[in-house]
Amino acid sequence: MASPHPTDTATATAAATATGSHPSRPDDQPARPLTRRPARRSTRPARPGDAHATALTHALVAAGRGYSVLPLTRAKLPAVRPPHHADPSPTPTPCRGECGRPGHGIHDATSDPLAVRRLFAAAPWATAYGIACGVPPHHLIGIDLDTKNGADGLTALHLLAAQHRFTLPPTVTVRTPSGGRHLYFSGPPAPPVPNSAGRLAPGIDIRGTGGYLVGPGSRTSRGEYHLTPGTPRLPAPAPAPLLSLLPPQSPPHPHPHALHHPSALPSPLPHPNPAPALLRFVRTSPDGQRNARLYWAACRAHESGLGQEMTTALTTAALHTGLTEREARATIASAARH
Ligand SMILES: [Zn+2]
Repeated sequence: MASPHPTDTATATAAATATGSHPSRPDDQPARPLTRRPARRSTRPARPGDAHATALTHALVAAGRGYSVLPLTRAKLPAVRPPHHADPSPTPTPCRGECGRPGHGIHDATSDPLAVRRLFAAAPWATAYGIACGVPPHHLIGIDLDTKNGADGLTALHLLAAQHRFTLPPTVTVRTPSGGRHLYFSGPPAPPVPNSAGRLAPGIDIRGTGGYLVGPGSRTSRGEYHLTPGTPRLPAPAPAPLLSLLPPQSPPHPHPHALHHPSALPSPLPHPNPAPALLRFVRTSPDGQRNARLYWAACRAHESGLGQEMTTALTTAALHTGLTEREARATIASAARH
């Protein structure tokens, strides 16, 4: 069956807690048992209340995994109405929730279950939810693979992987109503990965800091979002070469061909000198990310024309994290060949 039932998120939770069958259930979830399979999309009446409860249940499961979520409308937009439309005049600095009220779009996103319930209560018309990208603990990066309009994002991503010699690890994968895929990866805490559309290749959009993904268990005007069967429970770390294709800012791209060769870009970094940030990024690497972060930073250094200049400093920073000099130099050298 192509369309997995909406218990997948809950099932995944159960697997995560190694109980095998009984996810921790939110105490106010709808009376409808989670194990019930929905009727097929074409025959099932889209009762808004039902979709609301389903979205809330899945949003709470996602929040339990550390994701920050917010209710969305059927049009995939933040569902809670902004509280400031009646204000007498616009303030010079727009409110991002400092007023304490909900309705600030992505700034509402939270992993606090009580706050999630409050947001959904403030938007009874919500039938979907968003998962915020770029925020702790996962620093989620969403790869949005489109299959519409002649684009084939999935094939394009595999081509990129082959071209840049990385493999895509199994990771959380959500099937969209149009047949596209959302791949979830965890990213580094810094620098932020920006949102972009079609920059890597046609059909590949990136959801980064400030963006969100429509979560599994959502219903929109286009249909439902589902976890694909057998999907891992948590996002895999983004492969370092993939990260290196996601520049932390938006340099001008005069030629589309250049997208596939970031190392050939003229190096327009927004900060006059990225070196301190890159070194800090390497020095603060947790175990398990030391090589990936070093590789990523070395790629950035090369792209900004500082590859030679920074080799020693990067090596020193890597030694600080516990890598050996040999490992560090090998990683930096492979970044230089990237
Ligand atoms: Zn406000």
